[in-house]
Amino acid sequence: MNTADDEVYSSLKGKFDGDLLRPHDGEYALARRIWNGMVSRTPGLIAKCAGASDVQSAIRAGVNAGVLAAVRCGGHSLAGYSTCDGGMVIDLSKMRQVTVDAGARRARFSGGCLLGSVDRVTQEHGLAFPAGVVSHTGAGGLVLGGGFGWLTRLHGLSCDNVEGFTVVTSDGTIVRANERENADLFWALRGGGGNFGVVTEFQVKLHPVSSAVIGEGFCLGDDIAALLRRWREFMPESPDNLRWSISLRLAPDTENVPADIRGLPVASEAAVWVGDTAEGQRCLDHVLSVCSAVGVSKKTMSYMALQTMADHEFPHGRRYYTKSGYFRSLDDGSIDRMVGALDDIPSAMTQIELAYLGGATTRMNAADTAFGDRNSPFVINLLGNWSEPSEDVVNVGWVRELFADLRPAMTPGVYVNFMSGDEEDRVPEAYRDRWDRLISVKSLYDPNNFFRLNQNIPTIHA
Ligand SMILES: Cc1cc2nc3c(=O)[nH]c(=O)nc-3n(C[C@H](O)[C@H](O)[C@H](O)COP(=O)(O)OP(=O)(O)OC[C@H]3O[C@@H](n4cnc5c(N)ncnc54)[C@H](O)[C@@H]3O)c2cc1C
Repeated sequence: MNTADDEVYSSLKGKFDGDLLRPHDGEYALARRIWNGMVSRTPGLIAKCAGASDVQSAIRAGVNAGVLAAVRCGGHSLAGYSTCDGGMVIDLSKMRQVTVDAGARRARFSGGCLLGSVDRVTQEHGLAFPAGVVSHTGAGGLVLGGGFGWLTRLHGLSCDNVEGFTVVTSDGTIVRANERENADLFWALRGGGGNFGVVTEFQVKLHPVSSAVIGEGFCLGDDIAALLRRWREFMPESPDNLRWSISLRLAPDTENVPADIRGLPVASEAAVWVGDTAEGQRCLDHVLSVCSAVGVSKKTMSYMALQTMADHEFPHGRRYYTKSGYFRSLDDGSIDRMVGALDDIPSAMTQIELAYLGGATTRMNAADTAFGDRNSPFVINLLGNWSEPSEDVVNVGWVRELFADLRPAMTPGVYVNFMSGDEEDRVPEAYRDRWDRLISVKSLYDPNNFFRLNQNIPTIHA
């Protein structure tokens, strides 16, 4: 702990309701860890805030002492921004309250909630907030960067479903941002990430969803490329109730996978239908019949089961590295390159994830939020996922090489929440025509760039 970290600790001690953890404290070793095992840092202080007033105190103390500060909700930043060496982590994990107004189909949840914390309470009322597909992901980082998952095509991005934020800004004041109050900040927080302050509460819209029909299957050999071609043609015309996602990978060694294909290169498809069940069954039958899929299954699932079914694939502490981009249209050359990459994929856990957005995301005016790229519906995420540090070079190298080959055919742009920690130069690309306005809002609310461990937007004076 250096002198500045000591200064922060001394000024918070005695007037902080949550926990202040320093490197010699028993709980520190666990608390310093984040989801991505590639990132191991030792902050001088972890300030586990119990509420908004702790967040105010932590920010004021951090600014006064001039320390580096990281903000953590679920700790799932792929880039590892929610921790730091020295300095302070403003940890929101004690702030996980959710309240629902079922009649108005609205909820309020605290800035440290995981997606699972929100789903558990909203589902008691048969309602859902559109968000991501892994329940241990933090809602804070996901919503501020945009947020998409199974409900996105039907109900929009997570940030499109936010009606208001309560934020502590870098001078320690509590500010509300919604359509009537601080509209510039409201615009920036919907896609602009953690650049503007610490959100202590999200006020959001909910939708009646309590179950879905899901169809899954695997395509092999020449059918993999054929499936991707059919998928790219089908999705632009498909109903918004359908989200059909494909992962290129080695078939996992799990019960739901036929024994004779385990370990082979496959396209693993998951088609989820939210809405009229009979119509969904018909749509999924069609989708699953296009390319001689094997290991096909189709069932109705509770929304909670849907939202947690991928949790085990991305455990805390494993090693992850990602590169991502958009395609306006998916060309044959890129399909062939991705399929070819399966021949030398270095880890059985690594996936090339393909999603198609469109639907409700395009009905929101692009200028109304800071989120980018509503018109490039194909999202590709190369997610390296392995266990051993000795395999870092080969896994990171595989992701980088594949990305470099795909990049020329991609539309400029990137989803900020899928960026890795070595891509600072891509932040302007992520925001493009929204860049100057983001710089203005950043300069107003965080003029000295206190909140800089994120996909950082500079201030006017930088
Ligand atoms: C396993 C896994 C699954 C994922 N699935 C999806 C998915 O389905 N859809 C999708 O869109 N994304 C998905 N993502 C990406 C995800 O959106 C980002 O990793 C996001 O940053 C996670 O948020 P977090 O709160 O857990 O992150 P943290 O690491 O806690 O925070 C990341 C950054 O967010 C900011 N931040 C977080 N909370 C606050 C707050 N309350 N106030 C101000 N700033 C805050 C800070 O700048 C912080 O550095 C997934 C990521 C993982 C690891």
